[in-house]
Amino acid sequence: MLWRLVRFFLFQAVGALLGFALWPLDNPLRGALLGSVLAGAVWALIDLRRGVRLLRWLRDGQVANMPELSGLWGDVGTRTRSLLKARDQQSVHSETRLAEFLAAMQTSPNGVVLLDAQGRIEWCNRTAAEHFGFDPQRDLQQHLGNLLRDPAFAAYQSAQDYSHAVVIPGPRSTVGRPVRLSIDLHAYGDGRKLLLSRDVTALEQAEAMRRDFVANVSHEIRTPLTVLGGFVETLQTLQLQPQEQQRYLALMAQQAQRMHLLVSDLLTLSRLEGSPPPPLEEWHSVQSLLDDCARDARALSMLVASPEHALSFSTGVSTELAGASSELLSAMFNLVSNAVRYTPPGGRIVVQWQALADGRAEFSVQDTGPGIAPEHLPRLTERFYRVDRSRARETGGTGLGLAIVKHVVQRHGAELKIESTLGQGSRFAILFPAIRLRVYPQTDCV
Ligand code: ADP
Repeated sequence: MLWRLVRFFLFQAVGALLGFALWPLDNPLRGALLGSVLAGAVWALIDLRRGVRLLRWLRDGQVANMPELSGLWGDVGTRTRSLLKARDQQSVHSETRLAEFLAAMQTSPNGVVLLDAQGRIEWCNRTAAEHFGFDPQRDLQQHLGNLLRDPAFAAYQSAQDYSHAVVIPGPRSTVGRPVRLSIDLHAYGDGRKLLLSRDVTALEQAEAMRRDFVANVSHEIRTPLTVLGGFVETLQTLQLQPQEQQRYLALMAQQAQRMHLLVSDLLTLSRLEGSPPPPLEEWHSVQSLLDDCARDARALSMLVASPEHALSFSTGVSTELAGASSELLSAMFNLVSNAVRYTPPGGRIVVQWQALADGRAEFSVQDTGPGIAPEHLPRLTERFYRVDRSRARETGGTGLGLAIVKHVVQRHGAELKIESTLGQGSRFAILFPAIRLRVYPQTDCV
């Protein structure tokens, strides 16, 4: 600043000297005064020009193109430039943070919608767009109420009690494919709102399944218990002949056996759900699994059918199967025992093991039983699903056999195939993946 003043006075002094020297001799002091005033004006003009250049640069907003200026204006320019640079860096940093924050919100498995104080959409992530069928670009600034017209949501919004969520059907929900969305609103800032959405379809289905399951188990256990209770009461109150007593005791044993089977199938299912995946390095001979199935199937057939079934089992199978042997045997025997229980006496049951061209292998059970109508096929593996309840009860089934098979099949990366023709018979097959199969050199066929 001092240097600026010195320069200003020097400029004026030079102007005064020039005025003094050039003015006619009559009054050189007037010449000096005029020279000094003119020099001051020239100084002011030059200074103004610099200021104008600086102002133009500031107006342009091109921080990098600062004009070459010296002195005070140069200082002002340099300081302004560094302030502007710092501000630019700050805003770049803020924009990066905002972009990162929005990217994080994009990855959220929940839908996120930011609403302004008027309820217009300011931003939404992909999940929310998917949940509500929004277009994340086109629907910005649209009123949420115009896009989401569910009455339950409208009531939730107008009640302004956001302490709980509201569950509504998703806009793409259909009878065949229901979609249930849970929506939470949270107020923040100056009347703004954060909307969070969650797809709770699977959760609600699981909850409904759990309720059905508990109801089914209770029903399945209550029936034999009622029968047992009735017999106990009869034995306690009536004087029966020993023969009759024996008959009642046999019926009681049958009911107890039914409950035992049910509990043991339930335990098997819960073990399957909770245990680690079956090993890939434990190999079991398929022939010995088939032999065990054949032995138990013959015993069962003797028990339930007269004349017995014509049972035929593959022999000489030289394949090993990787997995959990108890699970594999349980799945295979469930299919064989169903064939035995549902095929009328004297019927034919063929159990085969076949290598397939694509490297897989198929375990199949074909029977000449009553067959199953096509509408039942997709539901057969549901727990407690039975085509004919009274018939299933007669045959001593728990309704859990095929559910167990499905679990074992899934756990071993295999596939369950069911084919059936009403009145002609059924064919249940498990297709094992190549990764779980290996052939060993066979010397002896069983
Ligand atoms: P269950 O213990 O009642 O046999 P499953 O889960 O093993 O239960 O089978 C479900 C239903 O599928 C059975 O109730 C029966 O109606 C039908 N089913 C299974 N296997 C056969 C078969 N081989 N022939 C005819 N119906 C079958």
